[in-house]
Amino acid sequence: MSKLVAFAAIQGGYKVVSSVEGELNNALASYNADTKIGFPNTAYYLPVIYSLTGIKCETLEDLRKPIEFAKGLLPPHIKSKNHLPYLGPLLDAGMAAIFAYEVKEAIRSLIDPDFYFPQEDPDIEAGKIWVGPADDTILRKRGVEFVDGSAPGFAAIVGAAPNPEIAKMIVEDYQKRSLYIFCAANHNGTTLIDQLIKAGVQIGWNTRIVPFGYDISSAVFALGFANRAAMAFGGVQPGDYKKILLYNKDRIFAFVNALGDVGTEWAVAAAGCVNWGFPTLADTDIPEILPTGICTYEHVIANVTHEEMCQRSVEVRGLKVTVSEIDIPCSFGPAYEGERVRGADLHCQCGGGKTQCTELVKMADMNEIEDGKINIVGPNIEDIKEGGTFPLGIYVQIAGREFQTDFEPIIERQIHHLVNYIQGVMHIGQRDISWIRIGKASREKGFTLKDIGAVLHAKFHQDFQKIVDKVQITFYTNKKDVEELTKRARKEYKTRDERVEKMRDEDVETYYSCTLCQSFAPNHVCSVSPERTGLCGAYNWMDCKASFEINPTGPNQPIEKGECIDPKLGQWKGVNDFVYKASRGAVTHYNFYSLIHDPMTTCGCCECIAATLPLCNGIMTVNRDYSGETPCGMKFTTLAGVMGGGASSPGFIGHSKFNITQGKFVKGDGGLLRMVWMPKILKEEIKERLIKRGEEFGYPNFYDMIADETVGITEEEVLEFLKKKGHPALSMDSIIAG
Ligand code: SF4
Ligand code: ZN
Repeated sequence: MSKLVAFAAIQGGYKVVSSVEGELNNALASYNADTKIGFPNTAYYLPVIYSLTGIKCETLEDLRKPIEFAKGLLPPHIKSKNHLPYLGPLLDAGMAAIFAYEVKEAIRSLIDPDFYFPQEDPDIEAGKIWVGPADDTILRKRGVEFVDGSAPGFAAIVGAAPNPEIAKMIVEDYQKRSLYIFCAANHNGTTLIDQLIKAGVQIGWNTRIVPFGYDISSAVFALGFANRAAMAFGGVQPGDYKKILLYNKDRIFAFVNALGDVGTEWAVAAAGCVNWGFPTLADTDIPEILPTGICTYEHVIANVTHEEMCQRSVEVRGLKVTVSEIDIPCSFGPAYEGERVRGADLHCQCGGGKTQCTELVKMADMNEIEDGKINIVGPNIEDIKEGGTFPLGIYVQIAGREFQTDFEPIIERQIHHLVNYIQGVMHIGQRDISWIRIGKASREKGFTLKDIGAVLHAKFHQDFQKIVDKVQITFYTNKKDVEELTKRARKEYKTRDERVEKMRDEDVETYYSCTLCQSFAPNHVCSVSPERTGLCGAYNWMDCKASFEINPTGPNQPIEKGECIDPKLGQWKGVNDFVYKASRGAVTHYNFYSLIHDPMTTCGCCECIAATLPLCNGIMTVNRDYSGETPCGMKFTTLAGVMGGGASSPGFIGHSKFNITQGKFVKGDGGLLRMVWMPKILKEEIKERLIKRGEEFGYPNFYDMIADETVGITEEEVLEFLKKKGHPALSMDSIIAG
């Protein structure tokens, strides 16, 4: 922080305190010392002074106490021993000025009792523009909105904009976000309120634009309002200044916008507000106070453009955007999650083996994206004929102060259920194997891709407030773009998958649950260990851990493994207990490492389904993107239909692609060496890893020993091939006797 700001503010502190002391002395010379002073209709005396010090000022004489207090706060010099350089004395000087400003307003209430018009709305025709401090009736009525969240906070604006149009624009930005706008002070005789009146904007408590006063001292009414809210609704006791200030910092999202030249008096007021955790953003070139510490983020930011004033303020204060209404033509909600879009109702679709459909969430820089922006690159739904297909890439960019790349997979996995929440739209799968079906009825209502964007934008803000500040979404519908995104996404998926590569199940005491899919498969509980990623492939152990950190009561809970019941099949007492509860008694136990013996439950999201091939003494697996026949006699869709409802089906298991080459894959049944058949595309997709695993098992040519559809789609054809290749499964123990 610059010494200059500290200097200006501290100087301002001296100036304000001494001039108010002078006013007080003058008043005491013309009025009796026991003359009553105070703000109208309040039980909180001079609320800032009362709330922070416990001092009850009722008479003119009483005002001496806060002035003495303020003088005591004024720092003699810039000290250097504070851990935040210079901030301590600066805050004290600020607080001293705030006390003095409140005393000044108390003196005004005595000598100019009609200065303010103490109503909810001003009487503009009568020239009664300034409403002054809110009385307790207004406090009760409005303060509660700060508590129940209908008003997240307030913007205290001092000064004036360059012109009425800009004033209107700034204020409307805040109104859209449901913030109150508390206005005080003039800039060279012009006020924001004058400008708003000129621009035809309605002012008053009822439109949330509150004209407190013409002088900078009236800014203290905003702080008095905030502190009374802390006492009235937060149960904080007067005098408990720490709690009052913390309550404000944590609960009231407020900040100051300084419009116009910041002189010493404004500077010291801004410094005062930092005590509350309220940062100042200025449209002029004042020295900044960037280090964080008291405020959630930076303290003073300069040179903010008027266009950015609202967005930057909200960011710096850490105010989270809530989008309460999702403006789309179809109904929306969990009720529609399980709804199908059947052939006869289908308008168009993407993915599902017909075209490529890929989803990717990536972190972005704050300045790189624009919140709420939805781009559509290529044709939209209205350009697609009935019964048509189109490729789709959904690219979501998230920026957030607290956002980390670790959170990307978690946000990405939400796309599935959120799109499903839209009435008449169905979503299956994830990552690069998504499948979206759009019904005729939704299309008739005017549904387009933009609406998917609106849903994702709103819900990511709502459900991930803590980590999400900005969401921008791009839909690609040209084949080339989708392919490009897919290529990039696959690289990302690989990096994510490999984060658990070196971890072993034995290394951790805690696994994680995933019950995200219970709305579809009510008894289904995925247990995710380092060596068993979620069967959808979208969640590995790390992801679940991160998800639990973001949302401790969410679908990913830690499970203490507890006593190991069967190390070969992978069964633990702690997991069983958890699964029993989480499945509401439907599943008593399961094994992590077997598809033959009490395998884990499977839901419809699995990337692959493995099945036993008794004749070959081995297993096969088939991925969702392969639509042909398989040697077990069932296509992927049939298999998914049979076992995707959340049951444990011995002989079958849903799993992720990555899991095939993880160390514990069906280890209880003999491990990867049991694998005798896979579709060619899957084999190729994981080729490198398959070869590597084969080498580890002592079979450098294992990859070539696995049959695919070019070899055959019957057990007999496969067996013939295995014999020729000398596949290790043939010499293993009988798979069914196990
Ligand atoms: Fe979670 Fe399993 Fe569903 Fe994936 S498949 S989202 S891991 S419950
Ligand atoms: Zn699922």
